[in-house]
Amino acid sequence: MSLISGDGNFLGVEWNTWQVIGWLGNIAFFSRFFVQWYASEKQKRVVVPVAFWWLSLVGSMLLLLYALFYRRDSVFIFAYGFTWIPYIRNLMIHSNAKNGETKCAACDVRSPISARFCANCGAALKTGNPDKS
Ligand SMILES: [Zn+2]
Repeated sequence: MSLISGDGNFLGVEWNTWQVIGWLGNIAFFSRFFVQWYASEKQKRVVVPVAFWWLSLVGSMLLLLYALFYRRDSVFIFAYGFTWIPYIRNLMIHSNAKNGETKCAACDVRSPISARFCANCGAALKTGNPDKS
């Protein structure tokens, strides 16, 4: 049995562009759990990598488009209608924190803005925050 039949069906199901968009959304949304899990296992503590928020944003936007223009289902639209707000806010916070990183003068490794000492070499960091100087 072939996966794609003569009439263009895949796995015996008829596909259209909106279903492909919906499934891409599902894949992005579902894969974020593995990305987050992998990052936490790797660092041996619970972390949320920036890729998690990007996958969340892309996945929820694709599913929202699917719900709005294909399913036209109010329950489905509501489920994805507002989730983008914390995703974008988390990406903004991440971006601000990254821009606020302090570069160690001794080894050039970047540390979070709140750090007082370099995590790499232990040198005291000069931060822009007057409370920390
Ligand atoms: Zn350093």
